[in-house]
Amino acid sequence: MRIGKPSDRPNVLIVEDEPAQREVLAYNLEAEGFDIARAENGEEALLLVAEATPDLIILDWMLPNVSGIEVCRQLKTRAETKAIPIIMLSARSEEVDKVRGLETGADDYVVKPYSVAEMMARVRTQLRRSRPTAVGQKLEYLDITLDSETHRVTRAGKQVKLGPTEFRLLSTFMEKPGRVYGRDQLLDRVWGRDIYVDTRTVDVHIGRLRKALCQHGGDDPLRTVRGAGYALG
Ligand code: CA
Repeated sequence: MRIGKPSDRPNVLIVEDEPAQREVLAYNLEAEGFDIARAENGEEALLLVAEATPDLIILDWMLPNVSGIEVCRQLKTRAETKAIPIIMLSARSEEVDKVRGLETGADDYVVKPYSVAEMMARVRTQLRRSRPTAVGQKLEYLDITLDSETHRVTRAGKQVKLGPTEFRLLSTFMEKPGRVYGRDQLLDRVWGRDIYVDTRTVDVHIGRLRKALCQHGGDDPLRTVRGAGYALG
């Protein structure tokens, strides 16, 4: 069994054909506490995204064969991938290119050479939208609050004690209330893509989370969706 990293760390996919550029980005993002996936070209990027959805993509414009613009266009036209924030990276600085990049659906556009500090600020801005708990925000849903910095959870003002797995489960649900997560998606998000865990393990931890959330009374906020998975609310 391979043990994966806990996936409450945001996963960033870097798509860049120049090894030196790719490694500088990877080094700096890892230092910020992110999990990194790397792709050398557009085809590889599309395959990786189909396998596991990253929280953010940094996408170089100039790539061999399938260009960054084409990768961006494809991802932004598919319902399953259009919400993934994309930061386009380019050596071009003409305003018309920037406009073209953003028109393709890119969420931000950074011109090379860029400062590492600027890139990290832009990454955090995009992640604040896609993974609010990963950048230390407080989340609220009805009478439940979750502080991702202190790992404190309360319900109706009373503290709720959760194990690390239940905390990551609740974070996932509270980032997108109402969204139904399949067991496989929860495994990917909460346990990490590299770990082998039986899907029944998900049910066990959902049970523990339910019990913890109702320990001071109140209705069960989690919904079981037959044949699909679980949702908050
Ligand atoms: Ca390139």
